Amino acid sequence: MRIVLLGAPGSGKGTQAKKLMADRNIPQISSGDMLREAAAAGTPLGQKAKAIIDSGHLISDDIVLGIISERLGQPDAADGFILDGFPRTEQQALDLEKLLDQLGTSLDAAILLDVDFEVLMKRLTGRRTCSLTGRLLNIHFSSQEELDACTNAGGELIQREDDNEETITSRLDVYHTQTEPLIDFYRGRGTLKTVDATGGADAVYERLLEALQEG
Ligand code: AMP
Repeated sequence: MRIVLLGAPGSGKGTQAKKLMADRNIPQISSGDMLREAAAAGTPLGQKAKAIIDSGHLISDDIVLGIISERLGQPDAADGFILDGFPRTEQQALDLEKLLDQLGTSLDAAILLDVDFEVLMKRLTGRRTCSLTGRLLNIHFSSQEELDACTNAGGELIQREDDNEETITSRLDVYHTQTEPLIDFYRGRGTLKTVDATGGADAVYERLLEALQEG
């Protein structure tokens, strides 16, 4: 299975990719995670990336392509992958096609996780990660027990630095102008599948599996 997860920040790409990865034993390839790792490592590339990520804008296509092409060339991606957060521009989508062509393969589907703006805002402003378990939580949607389980065990609820309101507004704006056109791009390729991504993660996952089965 070679798929791209499309959708606005907060649409649940990471959450759904992790579920699929566990189920199907294929890697989640998240450009955002890889860029954050580079930023945390403090490499020159990482330092540059951090400033851009914190502003909510996009890293340049050639840098992201370099990271993704290296990752797709690794053995665990040979039998399938879930791309999460890449491509984000039409140029990246074209680059991906070329890259897969060189690897002798192609995408099976581009899955759009479709969510209303108000839900996106709540998901992004409320998103937290438990510092102990890495579990994704949300102060608006997770139960008090789930939140307490983290803090009572001595964990902290960490907010991503780019999940502040100013950066979120910029990320949603960037999504609208640069990434949304990919919906038509993949519709034109005949590979687009749209999934209603409102509601809980398990319900969305059921819909995602149904969409994948439609062939
Ligand atoms: P994400 O975790 O997918 O929301 O990505 C966080 C940030 O990383 C984005 O706001 C961008 O600054 C950067 N980023 C992630 N993926 C890409 C991409 N495919 N192209 C350019 N920038 C990206």
